[in-house]
Amino acid sequence: MKNEYDIIVVGAGPAGSITAKTAAEKGLDVLLIEKRQEIGDPIRCAEGVGKYNLQQHIEPDPRWICADVKGSRIFSPDGTMVEMAEEISGGEVGYVLERKIFDRALANESALAGAEVMVKTRATDLIIEGNTVCGIKLMHMGEEYEVRSKIVIGADGMESKVGRWAGINTSVKPEDMETCAQYLVANANIDQEFCYFYLGNEVAPAGYIWLFPKGGNKANVGIGILGSESGEQRAIDLLNDFMEKNMPEARIIEMVVGGVPVSGTIDRTIANGLILVGDAARQSDPITGGGIINAMDAGKMAGEVAVKAIRNGDCSEKGLQEYEDLWRDTIGKEIDNSLVVKETFVNFTDEDLNSLAKSLQNVNFTSMSLMDLLLALFKANKKLLWNLRGLFKDIVKNDIDFKYRT
Ligand SMILES: Cc1cc2nc3c(=O)[nH]c(=O)nc-3n(C[C@H](O)[C@H](O)[C@H](O)COP(=O)(O)OP(=O)(O)OC[C@H]3O[C@@H](n4cnc5c(N)ncnc54)[C@H](O)[C@@H]3O)c2cc1C
Repeated sequence: MKNEYDIIVVGAGPAGSITAKTAAEKGLDVLLIEKRQEIGDPIRCAEGVGKYNLQQHIEPDPRWICADVKGSRIFSPDGTMVEMAEEISGGEVGYVLERKIFDRALANESALAGAEVMVKTRATDLIIEGNTVCGIKLMHMGEEYEVRSKIVIGADGMESKVGRWAGINTSVKPEDMETCAQYLVANANIDQEFCYFYLGNEVAPAGYIWLFPKGGNKANVGIGILGSESGEQRAIDLLNDFMEKNMPEARIIEMVVGGVPVSGTIDRTIANGLILVGDAARQSDPITGGGIINAMDAGKMAGEVAVKAIRNGDCSEKGLQEYEDLWRDTIGKEIDNSLVVKETFVNFTDEDLNSLAKSLQNVNFTSMSLMDLLLALFKANKKLLWNLRGLFKDIVKNDIDFKYRT
């Protein structure tokens, strides 16, 4: 470890590794630090990603792909099933990853690009001079160090401290958190070519249960419920109920709990000498909680803007503004749209959900784009989806949102 780098990236998740790789490839001197001793472990993720979006960043590799999914099956509360092809199933359906290997593969790519990677190395504070971030304080093997840089990238995930240290408000109210619990189960006995979603206020208040295949008859079975709607109910109890009723033969071999912020974007993700990316910048989707692809996309933008800023000799907030504009114009717009949809769906009763599912029973999804699907849904349920009319109008007029994704 040196005393000074062009860029220090805090956190070696998908956001941090892609940022580090992008900047190192362009010749910058990059340090990527990770507080854990093993990158990617433990994971807090259902591990689903869209194929097309993933391939923009890394060549798919069977070593970290557990299942190649061809679609999703969504069950409304009365059991009505809607089956959709992978391309229109949303950003979390496509491949199911082994993130323990995937995250390491991404960090490896950043190392191959020239970044210095250090594990068991925790950022403990920022070095701030005047009103500019000039580096970090870190702890490695019981020793404290101060390391300087032109830009610090906070890619330190959901519980990010880097943003807070820089004076950015990254707090999320408990009612805006989706509480998640997940088991990796053996003996799952599901069709390994599909992801399954179960909706309904009884199974998952203002959320859903997911089953993502992991190959070899294994699956991630998880639940996310919204703090504001779930009262005294605990995610883990609802998940246990579901498993007992629907998968009594499944055997739990791993457990994960975690939270996903679903409140939409924060006001600011840059400061003088600082950029936030991925979950640290609250860039996950408010409906699905999915954040891997957004983290990688934002990481690429952050890396590219950091290179330009350093070459231009302006790492001030103004010099980094392009990052803020780029991600808000793409990821940010999607998050805003998802927020509108989420806020409408949160108020749906089980009857509403059943009626939506039934309206799609005779639709042929194989020949449809996502836009067609949404329009079919809207036409058949105008009253129920009236709040979303602006969104549908925009989609038709500008082909927005989904142009960015597929
Ligand atoms: C239950 C659950 C299920 C999910 N399922 C999906 C899904 O199916 N698909 C999907 O796309 N997304 C899913 N997500 C979200 C997804 O996991 C995140 O959006 C994604 O990991 C964000 O990547 P990141 O790089 O921003 O953060 P992270 O992956 O969280 O990486 C942050 C890294 O920073 C490190 N770190 C933190 N603090 C420090 C420090 N002080 N010093 C050094 N290192 C530090 C951490 O150890 C960690 O390695 C799920 C989330 C949960 C909770």
